[in-house]
Amino acid sequence: MHYVIAHYHELALKGRNRPILVDRLVRNIREGLRGIGRCHVESLAGRIRISLDDPSRWSTIKPRLEATFGLANFAPAHHVSSDIDTMSAAICETVQGLPFHTFRVTTKRADKSYPLTSIEVDRHVGAAVVERTGAHVSLGHPEMTVFIEILGTSAYYYCERFPGAGGLPVGMSGKVACLLSGGIDSPVAAWRMMKRGCRAVFIHFHGHPFVTRASADKAEELARHLTRNQYHSRLYLVPFGDIQRQIVLSAPAPLRVVLYRRLMVRIAEEIGRENKCWALVTGDSLGQVASQTAGNLTVVDEAATIPFLRPLIGMDKVEITEQAQKIGTYETSIEPDQDCCRLFTPPNPATQARLEDVRRAESMLDVHGLVKQALEKVELKEFAFP
Ligand code: ATP
Ligand code: MG
Repeated sequence: MHYVIAHYHELALKGRNRPILVDRLVRNIREGLRGIGRCHVESLAGRIRISLDDPSRWSTIKPRLEATFGLANFAPAHHVSSDIDTMSAAICETVQGLPFHTFRVTTKRADKSYPLTSIEVDRHVGAAVVERTGAHVSLGHPEMTVFIEILGTSAYYYCERFPGAGGLPVGMSGKVACLLSGGIDSPVAAWRMMKRGCRAVFIHFHGHPFVTRASADKAEELARHLTRNQYHSRLYLVPFGDIQRQIVLSAPAPLRVVLYRRLMVRIAEEIGRENKCWALVTGDSLGQVASQTAGNLTVVDEAATIPFLRPLIGMDKVEITEQAQKIGTYETSIEPDQDCCRLFTPPNPATQARLEDVRRAESMLDVHGLVKQALEKVELKEFAFP
């Protein structure tokens, strides 16, 4: 049998969240490793142990664990008896061919009944490695660290561990309805909420048939990409061109963008309700464009009856772009499309729409009817990973 030992962030462990977090994380790892032959995932004394019968799948397993929110780090580990001499001998065998001049040993005992303290184990194993390899101990800047984890009569050790994605396991913070435009910002916003443990339900508004389906295709591609982090996703494609046309016909041009957004919010809320979402999420960043001034964001907010989250509100475009590149959505986001909002965008949108003006404009529209009409034409796409 082969093992991977994975750790979650200790800070996330406070209080009653702990069992919920661990349980969810174990289930998510199982989902993420679907199709990897025989593999068993279990929580074991403060860490997670993955047992595999085929180690050759590591190149598939590693990226899947890297995409698992809630993991602090993980490592393929050797299993050995926790008898100190047996352990020292096995570790010496493993490290003697490795290229290093300095090292340290870092031991953790899950069970304090072990006869030696962690520091005593460090010293004992360290001395054996020095004798076998001639390397030096460096506690501050070692070229290699030998990690030992003692769990009762078993021990696991490894010399290389990989950083996890951090955050919280997807699903433990409920579901949120993410407005996914196909631009750079909204996939990053959705990713950040997923990282805090939310399952994202994606909603995209498109202008087809007035424009091409390019924006919807991008939204699909982005939703598919982000599904790596949450295993299955729903994307709702909402035809929005007709609604925009009606707004253009009846409302003053400078108010259009805010009116579009308020309609999007109402439609997204209905879809969110159906999916038991507790909040709406957008990629707004303060002051980035006319629709995202403090005044306009407030007016858009007012149309929502559930919490309205904007995880990027305090980030600038450079920071958002860097994050989009890191999470792998940037290349799709910059492909050309025909965004529904640009379809009927006035040359001079109001930067400070007044709520009473917006309400007056809405009173000329059959808002309820427009929402209903859009919901009837919604298309649902589902994605699964792996
Ligand atoms: P993005 O890069 O996310 O498109 P942006 O800087 O282009 O953002 P806007 O176009 O003003 O900004 O959109 C602000 C937010 O409103 C988006 O981040 C997204 O959450 C939502 N949004 C805008 N257009 C759409 C759309 N067609 N479908 C779904 N959500 C949208
Ligand atoms: Mg946009």
